[in-house]
Amino acid sequence: MAAELFSLAGKTALVTGGASGIGQAIAVALAQAGADVAITVHSAAADETHALVAATGRRYHEVQCDLGSQADVQALLDAVAAELGPVDILVNNAGIIRRADLVEFGEEDWSDVLAVNLDAVWRLSQAAARGMVQRGGGKIINIASLLSFQGGIRVPSYTASKHAVVGLTKAFANELSSKCVNVNCIAPGYIETANTAALRQDEQRSRQIMERIPAGRWGRPSDLGGAAVFLASSAADYVHGHTLVVDGGWMAR
Ligand code: NAP
Repeated sequence: MAAELFSLAGKTALVTGGASGIGQAIAVALAQAGADVAITVHSAAADETHALVAATGRRYHEVQCDLGSQADVQALLDAVAAELGPVDILVNNAGIIRRADLVEFGEEDWSDVLAVNLDAVWRLSQAAARGMVQRGGGKIINIASLLSFQGGIRVPSYTASKHAVVGLTKAFANELSSKCVNVNCIAPGYIETANTAALRQDEQRSRQIMERIPAGRWGRPSDLGGAAVFLASSAADYVHGHTLVVDGGWMAR
């Protein structure tokens, strides 16, 4: 019974930015739960993700896509549908961060981050939602951040984008929940990926962050897999507009 509740067998998932970090871990977890998985790839190769998904026995497809430059999101969804079937589960994971002192923060560091972290989420979610509503249901999972709740330091465009993602998630949920489309967020804590490499290299910041995490360690990408499977599954059919924090207890401090 429990296995059925969390099974993604027969579903097609699309994970943006699935070549690395959190996106890769979520892609693999969804495949382990039974979904066929497509990912978008950007600058880095996705051989590792391909091998990990293939090892689960599920089908895999990748689409080259720059989500920072008005990508043709319908063409992306059509490409996945042609290979694996229409997208039942969309995970908006691709994201970037730029760090600089607020007073020095550049125009491009503002607009580039908003383009990937917010505009692409809006455009891809809108296009995917059209198909999900037509087919009678679906799941959209947006990757938020602790900086959806807090201000952060030296990352104003990232903070603005991640606050906005939580708001957008609620806006989508309000219109789509009666149509059996669940739209939710996962807010990861401090996770060991390329996104946080600069923080981990800064000994003082790294120690300060560790000291505040009740779990006593940084998160691993695989720590996010269970939350993604839950929100993608029928176990979460009555969960709408929620932000599920997976942070080792950071927000509880
Ligand atoms: P990551 O390994 O750098 O993953 C980011 C992914 O997004 C990469 O696969 C990257 O592909 C892709 N991407 C970047 N720009 C893109 C573009 N223009 N078009 C298409 N894809 C693009 O870092 P991560 O930590 O796993 O980040 C994944 C998500 O988690 C992000 O939304 C991030 O904000 C969020 N998050 C991370 C943490 C953390 O502590 N790590 C905490 C909270 C939230 P390329 O590398 O090929 O460009």
